Amino acid sequence: MAEKPSSEQKPASSDTGIRYVSLYEADDKIYTRRITGFYQRLRRYTGLPLMLGFLLLPWLVIDERPAVLFDLPARKFHILWLTFWPQDAMYLAWLLVIAAFMLFTVTVLVGRVWCGFTCPQTVWTQMFIWAEHVCEGDRNKRIKLDAQPWNFEKIWRKSAKQFIWIVISLVTSLTFVGYFMPVRELVSGFFTFNLDLVPLFWVLLFLGATYMNAGFMREQFCKYICPYARFQAVMYDKDTLTVSYNSLRGEQRGPRKPGEDYKAKGMGDCIDCSWCVQVCPVDIDIRNGLQAECIDCGLCVDACNTVMDKMGYPRGLISFTTEDAISTGHTKIFRPRLIGYGLMLGIMISLFIYSIATRVPVGLEAQRDRGVRMYREVEDTIQNVYTLKISNMDRGTHTYDLEVEGDYPFVIQGYKVVPALEGEVLTVPVRVSVKASELATTKTEIHFRIRARENPEITATNTTTFIGP
Ligand code: SF4
Ligand code: SF4
Repeated sequence: MAEKPSSEQKPASSDTGIRYVSLYEADDKIYTRRITGFYQRLRRYTGLPLMLGFLLLPWLVIDERPAVLFDLPARKFHILWLTFWPQDAMYLAWLLVIAAFMLFTVTVLVGRVWCGFTCPQTVWTQMFIWAEHVCEGDRNKRIKLDAQPWNFEKIWRKSAKQFIWIVISLVTSLTFVGYFMPVRELVSGFFTFNLDLVPLFWVLLFLGATYMNAGFMREQFCKYICPYARFQAVMYDKDTLTVSYNSLRGEQRGPRKPGEDYKAKGMGDCIDCSWCVQVCPVDIDIRNGLQAECIDCGLCVDACNTVMDKMGYPRGLISFTTEDAISTGHTKIFRPRLIGYGLMLGIMISLFIYSIATRVPVGLEAQRDRGVRMYREVEDTIQNVYTLKISNMDRGTHTYDLEVEGDYPFVIQGYKVVPALEGEVLTVPVRVSVKASELATTKTEIHFRIRARENPEITATNTTTFIGP
């Protein structure tokens, strides 16, 4: 058997001809160049509202409670004016399916714009890179700073960057945990060293995760962890809008002298300045074609347009375009797949809105009591015993009146009206009786209905059976 090479050894062929290679190759640090342009501004306008929404939502109060609070111990989710209970889990599943379809539709239409413009991973990485630029300077300065020995300047610049990173991570972490417990209590508890161990653990965990993720992992998260990057290529077609390099126009690439007739020498518009690579947050060269790592952020478009402006060439050597537009000059927007996804999405969103709008915040479940005989004969009546489970899923306390309907004149006995607190599930035993002379079948359906006294529109029904002799 061939001996394994030590960790210091480079991959090499052994005597037996077996070649050992490392399955993990550490990525080189990426020093991105700062660039301004249309897409960079657009990213700010898409990322900023999302970030502000994330930061402010837990602080917003509606009807004297947080606008968004996932109260796991109480097993209820407050979202704006609604409160969801475990019984409403299907809404969450539905929402996930809608989100997946939305992603499919958007990807078929405009590629990975979610990744480049709105994904939290991208937005937070952008913030961390901004801190890097502010404290350590642009690309060349950062490369020089990293290469130089530790001195006062290097220490204060690196410390300032770390400080900003930690502040951003802490704010992110407190906000995130603030979606699961009242944010005011959390923040005051944290800064007065009065926080319970469990929330403190989560705050520190998310602080570390944000710091590591946006500070160090960055594009590696997209490359190796995010599943979306893996399957997005399957959804692309020739008319999907994506960042592309026009090789027909750009090649033969290479440097040229000012005023030189480069076309006469068979050269294209690409001057091979590598700016498009230097600005790329995932460190790829878009001139090599569509790559799984590309997040469609458009920074290389801005960089190349800046170069084209300087050279006096038309913009758009790298642009958001489609494969068909480059080869034939036309793009087909309405394709069967896109229409199919769009229709499905429209139907699902409409149904979801309808079901939320018509959602009744009370649940009723009637079960025949298995602990007693099938029926009881009491004087001239037949009785069945039931256990009702009444779930108050509304905000506030409700008292429910009970009715019963069926083919015979049923009468409810022993129903005690008890107020149900918000979120409470009442278990109520009731008896239903009917005169024996009026019951003509051994088994018949009966329908229980409850109605809130405070709001008669809050009503629920449940059907079960009544058994006779
Ligand atoms: S290739 Fe261009 S669009 Fe793709 S990630 Fe790099 S800079 Fe962004
Ligand atoms: S920025 Fe434009 S001109 Fe410069 S290397 Fe990239 S594609 Fe060529």
